[in-house]
Amino acid sequence: MRYVSTRGAAPALAFDDVLLAGLARDGGLYVPDAWPTLTADDLRALARADYAETVTRVMAPFVDGAIAEDDLAALVTDAYRSFAHSAIVPLKQLGPNQWMMELFHGPTLAFKDLALQVVGRLFDHVLARRGRRVTIVGATSGDTGSAAMEACRDREGIDIFILFPEGRVSEVQRRQMTTIEAANVHAIAVQGTFDDCQDMVKAMFNDIPFRDRHGLSAVNSINWARIAAQIAYYVWAAVALGAPARAVSFAVPTGNFGNVFAAHAARHMGLPIASLAIGTNRNDILTRFLETGSLSIGTVEPSLSPSMDIQVSSNFERLLFELFDRDGKALAGAMADFRRDGVLAVSPERWARAKADFAGFRLDDAGTLETIRRVWQSTGEILDPHSAIGVATAEACRVDPAVPIVALACAHPAKFPDAVERATGIRPALPGRLSDLLTRPERVSVLPNDLATVQDFVAARTTRQEQPA
Ligand SMILES: *Cc1c(COP(=O)(O)O)cnc(C)c1O
Repeated sequence: MRYVSTRGAAPALAFDDVLLAGLARDGGLYVPDAWPTLTADDLRALARADYAETVTRVMAPFVDGAIAEDDLAALVTDAYRSFAHSAIVPLKQLGPNQWMMELFHGPTLAFKDLALQVVGRLFDHVLARRGRRVTIVGATSGDTGSAAMEACRDREGIDIFILFPEGRVSEVQRRQMTTIEAANVHAIAVQGTFDDCQDMVKAMFNDIPFRDRHGLSAVNSINWARIAAQIAYYVWAAVALGAPARAVSFAVPTGNFGNVFAAHAARHMGLPIASLAIGTNRNDILTRFLETGSLSIGTVEPSLSPSMDIQVSSNFERLLFELFDRDGKALAGAMADFRRDGVLAVSPERWARAKADFAGFRLDDAGTLETIRRVWQSTGEILDPHSAIGVATAEACRVDPAVPIVALACAHPAKFPDAVERATGIRPALPGRLSDLLTRPERVSVLPNDLATVQDFVAARTTRQEQPA
C-alpha cells in the first residue's frame, strides 16, 4: 500500500516513511491510495480476537509489510499492557441500544493513548532498523503533551521535548507531564502563552539546519499511523454489538477530526456503520459546515471541553480530499484560499455527500453540565465534559432506536474535576495508579519566551547522532 498526499504534489510513500514524515512535503496529509477491505468473514473471525489482536489485524494491511506482522503483533500487545482495564476499551450500557465506549484507561486517561502508545513503539522499531534517532518537539495546551510523553518515555531512538505555557495548564495536566521519570522526556514550562509555545515549535521546524542537525519530528494528530490504530476500536465495538449481522452507529466528540475520521475509514473498509455523528462544543466549525456547506473560521472560545476548542480541524482535509474526488491540485488551491479568506465553500453536490456521511450536533457549556448531571442521575455513570458531548450527540442524532449507538467517552472524569463537581457535587478521584500524582516530585524546566534559549536547551539535551544526508 502506498500513501498519497491530499495536495497531490508530494511523492507517494510506504507506511514507515509516512510514519516518520507526519505531514507531507507539499503541506498535505497522507491518505492510503486504496482502502483495504474487512469482509463479513473477517469480522466474524474478529469476534474471537482480543483487543490487541484486533488492532494488529486492522493495522496489518495499512502497515503492508513495512513491519513484519509478528513484530507488529508484539509491539501492539506491549502497547496495551499499560492500560488499567482488562477489556482495554470497555463498553458500558447507558440505555436501550445506547452505549458508551470508555477510551480513557490508558496512562494519561484520554483516548489519545490508544493510538500514541502504539505509535511511540512503531517509531522506535523503524528508527532502530534504520539506525536513526529523532527529536520530537511539540507544544501543548493540555492533554496531547502528556500522551506523547508517555508514549515516548524510555524509547531508545527518541528524545522528546514538550513546551507548555507556565501557569496556564491545570495542575493535573502539568503534573502528568512533569512527573514522568524518564531521561529522554523533557517538560518545558515557557513564560508565555500557548501561542508562544506553538510559534517556537514552528520556528524550530523552519530552522532547517537545526531541524536536520537534531532530526526533529512530530507525533501530532495528522500522523496516519494514529488514525490506523484508532480504526480498531470502532471495529471492536461493532463486532461486540453484532457486526457483521447488525449495523452500529457512533457519536464522536470532535476537535481535530482525527477520531471520527478513523470511524469513517472503518466504514470505507466495510464495517457496517449505520450513521456517524460529530459532536462539537461552542467551537462549532464542523457542525456549521454540515449546516451550511461552508467552512468558516471563527475565533476559538474557551469551553469546559478544552480538547475540542479548535477552529481549524486539521484532519478534515482528509474528508475534503474525498469530496474533491481525490483531486489534490484542486484541493491545494481551495486550502490556499481558505488560509487567505478563512472560508471554504463546497458545491451543493459535495455538501450533500458530506451530509449523507455525517450528522452534526453542538452543545454549549450549560448543556454539557446538564448532560453530566442527567446521565449521573439516571445511570450512576460520571462523564467528563468531552464524553458528555458524545453522549448528548448520540441522543440528539439517533435516527433508528433499533440500531445500537455508541458514544465515545474520550477522557476520564478525574481529568476535568471542576466541571464534574459543578454538575454533580462529586469531585471524581484519580484512579489508583495516579492517586499519588499530586505529591510526586516534579521535573520541569522553566524557560523564558525566547527561541534561542529553548533551542540551546534542546540542543544540549538531545542525544548525539550522525544524521544521514
Ligand atoms: C483530543 C481529544 C478530543 C478531540 O479528538 P479529535 O481526534 O481531535 O477530534 C476530544 N476529547 C478529548 C478528551 C481529547 O483528548
